[in-house]
Amino acid sequence: MTPASAPGRADAIVVGSGPNGLAAAVTLARAGLAVHVIEGAATCGGGCRTEELTLPGFQHDVCSAVHPLAGASPFFAGLDLAARGVELLTPKVAFAHPLDGGRAAAVCGSVAQTAADLGPDQRAYQRLLEPLVRDAALTLPALLAPLRSVPRHPAAVARFGLAGLRPASSLARRFKGPEAQALLAGAAAHTMLPLTAPLTSAFGLLFLMTGHAVGWPVIAGGSARLTDALVAELTALGGRVETGRWVATLDSLPPARTILLDVTPRQFVALAGERLPAGRRRALARFRYGPGACKVDWALSGPVPWQAAACREAGTVHVGGAFAEVARSEAEVAAGRHPEQPFCLVTQPGVVDPSRAPAGQHTLWGYCHVPPGSTVDMAGRIEAQIERFAPGFRDLILARSVRTAADLEQHNPNYVGGDIGGGAETVRQLIGRPTLRWNPYRTALPGVYLCSASTPPGGGVHGMCGDWAARTALADLGRPGGPPGPGPA
Ligand SMILES: Cc1cc2nc3c(=O)[nH]c(=O)nc-3n(C[C@H](O)[C@H](O)[C@H](O)COP(=O)(O)OP(=O)(O)OC[C@H]3O[C@@H](n4cnc5c(N)ncnc54)[C@H](O)[C@@H]3O)c2cc1C
Repeated sequence: MTPASAPGRADAIVVGSGPNGLAAAVTLARAGLAVHVIEGAATCGGGCRTEELTLPGFQHDVCSAVHPLAGASPFFAGLDLAARGVELLTPKVAFAHPLDGGRAAAVCGSVAQTAADLGPDQRAYQRLLEPLVRDAALTLPALLAPLRSVPRHPAAVARFGLAGLRPASSLARRFKGPEAQALLAGAAAHTMLPLTAPLTSAFGLLFLMTGHAVGWPVIAGGSARLTDALVAELTALGGRVETGRWVATLDSLPPARTILLDVTPRQFVALAGERLPAGRRRALARFRYGPGACKVDWALSGPVPWQAAACREAGTVHVGGAFAEVARSEAEVAAGRHPEQPFCLVTQPGVVDPSRAPAGQHTLWGYCHVPPGSTVDMAGRIEAQIERFAPGFRDLILARSVRTAADLEQHNPNYVGGDIGGGAETVRQLIGRPTLRWNPYRTALPGVYLCSASTPPGGGVHGMCGDWAARTALADLGRPGGPPGPGPA
């Protein structure tokens, strides 16, 4: 196979170099195809990049920062990340959740270790989490696959599914104390859904489970190192990446046997134009995006002075108080309002990675959920929430960079309205993501596939959307090399 040394000679074109676009490209290149990746932005990586957003010497993860899903991903397990210079640094505390009065709950090490600090909920936490963590190696690959593929371990997956079907607000009633309830709230709120919504427990349990089974690592030097590794793997296989070229229509692409698009349904409709039958356009228009995020990065003169010791050792801190407060914040966002006291996701990579800032200084990363398309700068409200649990925090701020939800979309068109997950995590979109089709990666256009986070298994840096889409494309080309994709060719 001739490597794609010039446009027009590629077998496969991938539009977009996010983790899913690059994973797709690697899978195709491993099967012997000449692959050409076209990226609109000046640098590769989409939601997996690191930049000096504030001051010289402060390396901030622009989007993704914490990588339990990369740690759990079968695609990344098949890549020798260490040989490609990627070091996953796992903090002692996966995530902590401060409460008023200097207390905190924390996911730390084994289920038993974590439960030991949950007071009246020690037993209940162990009963809920122990079977799930024991089966994690069986369930995680199934949770990172399209639902329509038959799981290899149906009993373990069913056990997880039964526990996760209810809303987090219902599951939280198993717990008596605020600590265990808060841990569940913070993990479930990653869905960006109200905690009364179905499936919020499933996401909460997934994140708790990964906290114990995988850890919540950051990447030494920043998330961009993972992108560098994917690009290095691709180029070693003869593929090439072109940056700074926004694709406006499919017709503008060089000829290729197969095209994979790391874009969301709305962009796909625009790219395909009249080539897409009206019925498919209507089906794709029904795809729902979630709320937005307002993201803030800080350069700090020292570590955040959390009152609770567990927060000082945690890579990630869920800031927002007790279950009811987190639930109220998410409900307000769902109702189209900006919460006065938002639930905030905060990451402090300096806990394990001193390379992110000059000696003694730190970077801090945080965001809160906001209504779609919001232009509101939430930095003040996020800082007030952090200050509540870490008095003196504001005095450490040397500089900050803010991206509203609208800014996020401006930097990356995949973040429609600032939705960082590539589409709402609703029940309908769990079953039919992006639309209800047997194989979710094929489109109505022969040889054209979607491979972004808007396809299963959804948002996050795991590369599995790209890998599954590429396997589908390979199966359709009748190529050996990749295991068959889901659904009949
Ligand atoms: C603030 C924030 C925090 C996050 N935190 C985490 C986290 O801690 N952990 C985690 O696992 N995930 C996190 N995520 C989510 C994660 O980043 C995404 O789910 C993931 O990057 C999706 O990968 P993707 O390849 O589908 O799309 P993207 O990473 O969005 O990449 C899409 C790429 O396609 C390019 N593109 C789009 N349209 C075109 C076009 N027409 N022409 C050319 N190029 C185009 C874009 O420029 C972009 O580079 C976060 C996201 C954000 C924004």
